[in-house]
Amino acid sequence: MEKGLLFVVSAPAGCGKDTILEQLFKVTENVGYSVSATSRAPREGEVDGVHYHFRTREQFEKMIKNEEVLEYTEYCGNYYGTPLTYVNETLDKGIDVFLEIEVQGALQVKKKVPDAVFIFLTPPDLNELQERLVGRGTDSEEVIAQRIERAREEIALMSEYDYAIVNDEVPLAAERVKRVIEAEHFRVDRVIGRYRNMISEKKLSDK
Ligand code: 5GP
Repeated sequence: MEKGLLFVVSAPAGCGKDTILEQLFKVTENVGYSVSATSRAPREGEVDGVHYHFRTREQFEKMIKNEEVLEYTEYCGNYYGTPLTYVNETLDKGIDVFLEIEVQGALQVKKKVPDAVFIFLTPPDLNELQERLVGRGTDSEEVIAQRIERAREEIALMSEYDYAIVNDEVPLAAERVKRVIEAEHFRVDRVIGRYRNMISEKKLSDK
């Protein structure tokens, strides 16, 4: 069976990526979402195992030591990382996997999984991003300032990605991501193995 493709999505915090991915999963089949582990405290409404696997710093450090994460980073004082087992098992079933992670983690994935697809979601502009973060009301002024600064740094690293998708309107942005998924499945380097098999089978029946 052909393995699924790994899609890595990054976006400055508050860019609305959760909403885009939610919308994407409504209109796309055969995709799984990798729930990250984090040492940050749950925000109101966040559920363990759904939004994140919430862990203590000690538990997280144990996961790192045991090589249970595909990548991890420390972001604004907390650990975030991708549990390896879910990703491997899902790809092996032929199902695509989406990681929603920040840039440093994405760069680690790029080294380990060179044929992964890297998508950068961009805010229409940074002022709007700040308004969204303030409007969300979940972070202090200091954390918001930290996150805006981090967004600047992240946008500077966009060149490491394969696709840049503007999140102006959620359904549109989700549709653009969907088109990327479809196109990636048609790439010659992804399907050539199947055709090589076909050719060699033909030779056998000629004999
Ligand atoms: P938040 O605290 O707003 O949920 O997430 C903060 C940042 O951590 C976001 O940019 C998000 O993409 C990133 N993030 C979430 N999960 C992971 C992960 O597993 N690995 C890495 N490297 N970043 C993550």
